[in-house]
Amino acid sequence: MNNYDVVVIGAGVIGTSCAYHLVEKGLKVAMFDFGDIANGTSSHCDAAAMITDKMPGPDAALGYASIQKFLKLSEKLDYDFGLIQRGSLYLCETDEEMEIASGYISDLQKEGYRVRMMNQQEMAEKEPFLAKDLPGGFWSDECCGLNPYKLCFAFTEQVKGKGLDVYTHTRVEAIGLDEKKNISYVDTNQGRFRTKSVVNAAGCWSPEIGRMTGVKIPVASRKGNIMISEATTQICHQKVQEFGYMILKFGSKAERDPELVKHGVAFTIEPSNEGHNVLVGSSRNFVDYNVDTDLEVIRVIAKRAIRFFPILKSVNFVRAYAGCRPFMPDHLPVISPVEEIPGLYIATGHEGDGISMAPMTGELIAEMVTGQKPSMDVAPYSFSRLKDRFC
Ligand SMILES: Cc1cc2nc3c(=O)[nH]c(=O)nc-3n(C[C@H](O)[C@H](O)[C@H](O)COP(=O)(O)OP(=O)(O)OC[C@H]3O[C@@H](n4cnc5c(N)ncnc54)[C@H](O)[C@@H]3O)c2cc1C
Repeated sequence: MNNYDVVVIGAGVIGTSCAYHLVEKGLKVAMFDFGDIANGTSSHCDAAAMITDKMPGPDAALGYASIQKFLKLSEKLDYDFGLIQRGSLYLCETDEEMEIASGYISDLQKEGYRVRMMNQQEMAEKEPFLAKDLPGGFWSDECCGLNPYKLCFAFTEQVKGKGLDVYTHTRVEAIGLDEKKNISYVDTNQGRFRTKSVVNAAGCWSPEIGRMTGVKIPVASRKGNIMISEATTQICHQKVQEFGYMILKFGSKAERDPELVKHGVAFTIEPSNEGHNVLVGSSRNFVDYNVDTDLEVIRVIAKRAIRFFPILKSVNFVRAYAGCRPFMPDHLPVISPVEEIPGLYIATGHEGDGISMAPMTGELIAEMVTGQKPSMDVAPYSFSRLKDRFC
């Protein structure tokens, strides 16, 4: 009875997308999570699928292809995950940032993405509550908002009982190999499940799953704090963030206030789907996985938020939460088979882009497991690229 074509470990955006796409290819799939659906980072994050937070090249390519897939999935999946293509706005604070940003935008434009620089007046038309002293920024029509928590359920509900069995509150404890090092079974606290293929989609816990087969996965937990406002007047109309977010995410040497650097703070804001509450972030710090909020970091985020949207000084914030991003040292996820262990696949390390990249990650894993030609170049996401550098 406990016999499956594929076992997916983890029911976040990545695991649920893999499970959905594998069932779509006709496979019998079991998905395990030691919590509920969306137990981990996928319910402790923001809600944007963007081009303009990716580096030109394979990073942006995966984000763009996923947005195209999101647009189709929002028609196809029965469960509404709240997709809205409302664009996104970046803010530059200094002329130095404007210069770096215009180089970045020109690189994205060369790859064909709809992105452009924006002057102060256009920004004020998009966002009337914005601070008036900013030199400019950039805009993209491509970017979307969605509800990541609902997305996990949308993938799961579409195929549950039709090829997918879901085992929540079930912890994977070991992975068994046969004498030729092929995948043979998965042991859980609910018993043994036979399978020839395993997808490790365990996010920040993926190194722990890797160790079960002696595979070193260099994922680290990079924490971020978010604040949620009370219901209020519509403060912003799409995702807005400071260009300093990119400087922080990719570790550029551009000068920043030491307090921001210490806590890895860069301003982001987005409206809830109904537009009445705003989510304000964020921070980046390496931690041993923990999702306690940090009061001092929240203070710095609040101060930064008021700098860009002075109106926020008079808005109450009712809640804060934190999540851990599964960080990969070269800023690209791993979506890949593991050559040494036939039947083992890894889908992890999406850092701050797991929501954005979930659709194509699931599609590519399903193509790999079924031996089909991947629908885009997967070499940049291979596990083998990490071997000599980080493993
Ligand atoms: C503050 C913040 C803001 C963010 N904003 C955005 C954004 O706007 N856009 C975007 O694209 N991304 C964003 N991200 C990143 C995004 O949330 C993550 O990249 C994504 O959620 C990772 O998904 P995952 O499925 O890999 O991991 P997770 O959602 O963590 O799922 C892994 C699952 O594996 C399970 N698991 C682990 N070990 C086991 C085991 N042994 N047995 C069974 N189950 C196990 C866990 O319970 C967990 O549910 C943000 C992240 C943070 C922290």
